[in-house]
Amino acid sequence: MTDWVKGVVADITHWTDNLFSLSIRADIAPFTAGQYTSLALDIDGERVAQPYSILSAPGTQPLEFFFYTQLEGDLSRKLSRSVAGDTVWVQQQPEGTLTLSGIKTPGRNLCLMATGTGVAPFISMLQTDLPWQQFEHVALVYAARVWDDFQYRELFAALQAKYPERFTLLPFISRERRDGTLHGHIPDKLRSGELERHLGRELKADDSHVMLCGNPGMVKDAVTILQTRGFRDNRPGQPGQLSYESYW
Ligand SMILES: Cc1cc2nc3c(=O)[nH]c(=O)nc-3n(C[C@H](O)[C@H](O)[C@H](O)COP(=O)(O)OP(=O)(O)OC[C@H]3O[C@@H](n4cnc5c(N)ncnc54)[C@H](O)[C@@H]3O)c2cc1C
Repeated sequence: MTDWVKGVVADITHWTDNLFSLSIRADIAPFTAGQYTSLALDIDGERVAQPYSILSAPGTQPLEFFFYTQLEGDLSRKLSRSVAGDTVWVQQQPEGTLTLSGIKTPGRNLCLMATGTGVAPFISMLQTDLPWQQFEHVALVYAARVWDDFQYRELFAALQAKYPERFTLLPFISRERRDGTLHGHIPDKLRSGELERHLGRELKADDSHVMLCGNPGMVKDAVTILQTRGFRDNRPGQPGQLSYESYW
């Protein structure tokens, strides 16, 4: 049985027609950056729930979440119509293993690869001290369809200013061409070596950890490529250099 706590919408930001962020005040159990919880609405007498990564840093309120809405299902669309003061049910106990605390083999490089709203757990991590304590260099490879979908740019700019030698942002845009971004998909550019050329460093199993999140196609293809290069899944009791989570 899920324990639900009543959350109250503090704010909603509509970035585009199909992307928005919600800030929700909710007294949930402490979480580790990278974890998710479930959000639910009571729709026609039924509690409809889905998991969502927590984008905000641990220990801060309100909690923040980042959503894509152009979907068949009810929940994301209904959440997009929220206004301040609305109730959203929040699973009291966050969960998930896509966290830096689960990495037993810190290396020189941490590479975070995300598509769309899959960037949320990494934004939470990047706002904590952990990546900067565990790794010399941190890269965020973030793929969106169009530039307008590429959000949280101010936060990334602040990280680049704070860690000019240690943080690299590599934006991918699949449906537009734009200076300063890579055109196409993460697995293709990983396979061809172009991704690493743009990062200015090679991803090697003996000194790198790669975390992936979002579209299952991207995750599966990129993981397969990295596994052929000697990367292994990070599992409890079996440390590896790959951690990943698919959103569907
Ligand atoms: C661990 C975990 C964490 C998640 N975190 C987030 C998050 O932070 N933000 C978020 O928007 N979603 C997230 N999701 C997906 C989310 O749980 C729902 O599946 C999504 O909101 C669709 O729910 P729905 O009921 O509105 O539509 P549904 O009818 O259930 O839509 C399902 C279909 O929508 C597509 N889809 C689902 N999620 C996305 C997405 N994020 N972007 C593009 N297409 C998608 C897939 O094709 C999927 O089959 C997460 C999923 C998991 C498993």
